[in-house]
Amino acid sequence: MKAQPDSTGCREAPVLKERGQREVFCGLTGIIWLHRKMQDAFFLVVGSRTCAHLLQSAAGVMIFAEPRFGTAVLEEKDLAGLADANEELDREVARLLARRPDIRQLFLVGSCPSEVIKLDLSRAAERLTEIHAPHVRVLNYSGSGIETTFTQGEDACLAAMVPHLPHSDERQLMVAGALPDVVEDQMLKLLADLGVGPVRVLPARRVDGDLSVGPNTVVAVAQPFLGDTLEALERRGARHLPAPFPFGEQGTTAWLAAIAREFGVPEAHFEAVTAAPRARARKAVASASENLRGKTIFFFPDSQLEVPLARFMTTECGMRPLEIGSPFIHKGLVGPDLDMIPAGPIISEGQDVDLQLERCRAQRPDLTVCGLGLANPLEAEGLTTKWAIELVFTPVHFYEQAGDLAGLFSRPVRRKGLLRMEAAE
Ligand code: SF4
Repeated sequence: MKAQPDSTGCREAPVLKERGQREVFCGLTGIIWLHRKMQDAFFLVVGSRTCAHLLQSAAGVMIFAEPRFGTAVLEEKDLAGLADANEELDREVARLLARRPDIRQLFLVGSCPSEVIKLDLSRAAERLTEIHAPHVRVLNYSGSGIETTFTQGEDACLAAMVPHLPHSDERQLMVAGALPDVVEDQMLKLLADLGVGPVRVLPARRVDGDLSVGPNTVVAVAQPFLGDTLEALERRGARHLPAPFPFGEQGTTAWLAAIAREFGVPEAHFEAVTAAPRARARKAVASASENLRGKTIFFFPDSQLEVPLARFMTTECGMRPLEIGSPFIHKGLVGPDLDMIPAGPIISEGQDVDLQLERCRAQRPDLTVCGLGLANPLEAEGLTTKWAIELVFTPVHFYEQAGDLAGLFSRPVRRKGLLRMEAAE
């Protein structure tokens, strides 16, 4: 259970800050994974037909299941200020809740159109909570694409929940970040085996669970894009446990070790609990990353997972990062990962897509991690790409997923190698 090395790595490297055209999805995208996670929640986007189409195409059309998200479409008369959008919203919400008694939390999700017409969704949420309490709690957050990137949707959603959590003075661990259920269960088992508890998870699967917060709550963050959520938790008295993010064998071990130190887990017990899954993860990563070793990688800013993933690709898969771009670099969260990446790559925050494309083309990395919009053009130019959004939709955290995570990066490199061989024959 060693403490993290105190070498500065990339933490103190100058950050290239860019503010120009960006190529990212909006925060509504988070609804796709959040609605699966929170089983008594409904996400009502107050937006346009474009927002509805984005959600439908990203989530796939559900024919048999009752969906837990929908769009209250703002029509032209709403946008022109000719209709009272609040009245219509109240009517829609009443109709929805009457039809769906299973809904216990309703999120009004703002969008670009609702922000442009300055529809006050926080007042609407307060008003609707008064009407529908105690059975339903109505909250609001923004998923708009104005000046945001898609993982901020989850951050905004969780941050909106924090002020409403019950107070607790209990000494407890809170893990912040939506993880697929199977991954969350693996994590809870590891923590239980270590003897750490009680453990609360934000977001909880159901609103009437035992989630609470207070001055004796310590927070381990599982997703690096939760800066606002962490601030909201700190305002409620909770204390953050900084650590590298739980990707791969090293990241998972360091993340667990920070918790184990906080809860006084004896070193021998930590070793006994983690030895077998660590060995499995190391073996899986070694085999999945064979064709990555010694190759270069370039990250465009997209999911905000870029820094921890670059750490994993560098220290566990043997790749050399040329540029690590991220929409935002929150050193309080990703600092421990930056510490572990040897100095050398450009660290960039924000985006000016044309300038960044020039840097990428000049360096011709072996693998480029980028959004969907850039992947096809770069492939056409002969570069090998990995879609960043896939990393958010695939289970990638903790020991048992470490090999799959390396595999997500090695597959495109292997495919490109095979195509080259075919072309040469
Ligand atoms: S919120 Fe904005 S960026 Fe997202 S789908 Fe709606 S209009 Fe488009």
